[in-house]
Amino acid sequence: MSKAVYPGSFDPISYGHIDLARRGLRIFGELTVAVARDTSKATLFPAEERVDMAAEVFKDTPGVTVTSYKGMTVDYVRSIGANVMLRGIRTVSDFEYEFQMALTNRHFADDLEAMFMMTSNKYSFLSSRFIKEVVALGGDVSAFVPPQVEKRLQEKLARRSS
Ligand code: ADP
Repeated sequence: MSKAVYPGSFDPISYGHIDLARRGLRIFGELTVAVARDTSKATLFPAEERVDMAAEVFKDTPGVTVTSYKGMTVDYVRSIGANVMLRGIRTVSDFEYEFQMALTNRHFADDLEAMFMMTSNKYSFLSSRFIKEVVALGGDVSAFVPPQVEKRLQEKLARRSS
């Protein structure tokens, strides 16, 4: 049986990520949502908070474990005995980025497979980046993230602007 990891920065986790994890769970039965500590993106939330938010979201979802990792994703995936990396595709532009990343990963780990799933079209426009921009501009993101994540976004932005 394949063991799958859903890696990402999750800065913060959104309904799009959650939808994708639930779809992955239908196929794998067990899924590790792995928050990347080392990301080339400048994150709003430190890794601990990104993990806390994801853990809170999945606390009542059997089959989902939330962890974090440092270094290369392929090394982490191997270290926990998994062999599949699950990633989401929203748009054609995601495809190009994911394709390059998958082939780069394959160079280092030909024994692992990347698997791509399409998000629900309800969330296909959602990105953590725009969610942060909307909150920073005072907009309502309750349709995009769970209430506890929205609260953290607002606290973070209020702290920054005070
Ligand atoms: P990364 O910084 O590694 O790209 P993200 O946290 O931005 O991590 O995204 C993690 C994964 O989740 C990526 O494969 C991304 O395509 C996917 N993803 C992001 N937003 C959505 C969404 N709205 N619907 C489905 N998948 C998504």
